[in-house]
Amino acid sequence: MKITGIETHICNARMRNWIFVKVLTDEPGLWGWGEATLEWHTRAVVGAIQDIEPLLIGEDPTRIEYLWQIMYRQHFWHGNGIVRGTAISGIDIALWDIMGKVHGVPCHKLWGGPVRDTIRLYSHLGGGKMEDFYQTDPADAKRFAELAQAAVEDGYTAFKTMAVPETMPLEGLRPIRYAEACVAAMREAVGEGIDIMVDCHARPSPRMGLLFAEALEPYGLFWFEEPCWPETLEDIALIQRAVKTPIATGERLVSIHPFRELLEKRACSVIQPDITHCGGLTEARRIAAMAEAYRVSMAPHNPQGPVSTAASLEFGFATPSYIICESVHLDVPWRGDVVTECFEVEPLGRTVCPGTRPGLGVEINEEEVKKYPFQQELPQRSFYADGSVGDW
Ligand SMILES: [Mg+2]
Repeated sequence: MKITGIETHICNARMRNWIFVKVLTDEPGLWGWGEATLEWHTRAVVGAIQDIEPLLIGEDPTRIEYLWQIMYRQHFWHGNGIVRGTAISGIDIALWDIMGKVHGVPCHKLWGGPVRDTIRLYSHLGGGKMEDFYQTDPADAKRFAELAQAAVEDGYTAFKTMAVPETMPLEGLRPIRYAEACVAAMREAVGEGIDIMVDCHARPSPRMGLLFAEALEPYGLFWFEEPCWPETLEDIALIQRAVKTPIATGERLVSIHPFRELLEKRACSVIQPDITHCGGLTEARRIAAMAEAYRVSMAPHNPQGPVSTAASLEFGFATPSYIICESVHLDVPWRGDVVTECFEVEPLGRTVCPGTRPGLGVEINEEEVKKYPFQQELPQRSFYADGSVGDW
């Protein structure tokens, strides 16, 4: 069996362009689906996949580790940048889909079989909608509480929210009190039986990240995410040592190497590799093995499209340290039209059971995808009150 081509199918899903990767083989009816979605870099990723394709044409798609090594190490440049890492990830996910189909089993059975009966999903209160990311209005606390209640009524037992406002490198009490008020309102609304996560999108400076983490500690967050730039792992480690709240990070890291450093520094309690960026399922499994040695939990970042979710779930069913799956379901109403998924979500509690279809169990409807062609993502630019540049 040989790889005969690699296609990319772009599907504009409002906030982001999903990049579906289709690896074709010379076996009739046998192909694999992957996903390589990278917001604001769609054309670069498509180009990177085109650059990698000649390395793989004619190769056996079931030699996944061998092909991964080729993709990461050949043509001189290593695949540890975000664009190349995402391109490799999309292809790697598709190769595992092929491998499962060749053997007629779901991917998690290739990796030792299911280690759990169900996986819990968590919701994002933004639901994938930019207009739901609030910033500074004190009245937001009430809205946060309403959204939190709605998530619970929707069956979720856990949700993530962006209750930490954007701040300059140093600000006084106002943003701290704002975040406290929003989280307190959510906790009061849903009680202690529901898990709340707060994501900072790595916007705060290390010091502001620490101040936010300490202020929110009494509310018993399930985790506090990306409290400062991932480039400053020492600072994330300082924050983790300062609070009992589990710190989560890792969605922007590519390859095992930065994760090794993160774990060695005991910088977090939850690592969040994005399977569509970190090097695919092959590299995610290596990262999981390292995390296992540190007893650190895994919760892969997963705000993208349906193939990314299928990959995360298959990975989760075979990975002991996996604790929860990020679920985006309100981004576009036609999400279910472009893909046939192999799992069903249990409405009460929002959990899923292992699928039985081979590979990732997904099939993309290419005709439906064509209805939503590439559109440039809206430029998201952020500036502080004094006009200097902030982080989106
Ligand atoms: Mg995040």
